[in-house]
Amino acid sequence: MASASDSDTDITGLAANGQLPLPWLAAPLQQALTQGRSHAMLLQGPAGVGQFDLALLLAQAWLCEGRAAPDQPGCGQCASCRLLHSRSHPDFQVLLPEALREPLGFGAMDAEGAEPKASKAKPSREIKIEAVRQVLSFAQVSAARGKAKVVVVYPAEALNTVAANALLKTLEEPAGLLRFVLASAAPQQLLPTIRSRCQPLQMALPARDAALAWLTSQGVETPDVLLAATGGRPQEALLWSEEGIAAKTWLELPRRIARGEAQALTDWPVPRAIAAMQRLVHDLMRIAHGASPGFFPRDALPKLPAVRTALDQWARTLQQAARHAEHPLNAGLLMESLVAQGQQAMRPAR
Ligand SMILES: [Zn+2]
Repeated sequence: MASASDSDTDITGLAANGQLPLPWLAAPLQQALTQGRSHAMLLQGPAGVGQFDLALLLAQAWLCEGRAAPDQPGCGQCASCRLLHSRSHPDFQVLLPEALREPLGFGAMDAEGAEPKASKAKPSREIKIEAVRQVLSFAQVSAARGKAKVVVVYPAEALNTVAANALLKTLEEPAGLLRFVLASAAPQQLLPTIRSRCQPLQMALPARDAALAWLTSQGVETPDVLLAATGGRPQEALLWSEEGIAAKTWLELPRRIARGEAQALTDWPVPRAIAAMQRLVHDLMRIAHGASPGFFPRDALPKLPAVRTALDQWARTLQQAARHAEHPLNAGLLMESLVAQGQQAMRPAR
């Protein structure tokens, strides 16, 4: 798989010359650097707005040996910044699910922390105890460069219970210069004991203009449609664009579903397809209540049916399906049945 992490995008980028890879992270980074008191910070907020990037920037700043002041981002020039950029900083560790290591540019786990990998097994989406043990030994040794030691945990809700419990003590009383940055889009799923040991930092959706400017700089066409489609989350919008979802595809979706065309969604990962239908229901219900749609432009939506019980029913079915979206028994059948129900729900009044 081609890695997007090298030069064409800056998803895993660092600060350099005062410039940040995701410009809207300047404010939260500044906030974290000036108000961060705890040795463990928890970045929380919506997915797709740069949580992992902010965690990396924070680590870079703490490890940087060339900053003029402690409220500044990493310099991007010093030996420490360069080591971090090449993913080989001796005082830095990431705690990621196996499934995210490659996409985020950290390669597969090394021999010691490796999960016994059956060759066909899907990489895990959990952070497991083996990976935490590696971090615990990292916590014991003193800093190689003497500035700080940083562990980034992302997404923190991926820690399974055993792994989370193993991390607790070190999180509470890290030895020496060790600091943690946890990032989570679902902090309510974290163990309360983990949450209570961290200083929270709330991240918000970036301003629309900043997000659109960034998407344009990344070569996304009609970024406004994809940004709205993803609920204002620019990284998700970029991902959709890279995966070939054009604005046209999104704009045609409501009417295709209204016509019962399940093939409009069969190429999509099931969770995304279900989320798309939920966004459609959300917009139809907003219109029914006299509000403006949020995910689709109004003229892409079919007329509202006079009777809305079918729409409510579809919403409930989708909500239920979303809970099992990662493991559908038969994705094709599921899509057909969900789209058929949507067709019913959007049938125009006679
Ligand atoms: Zn530096």
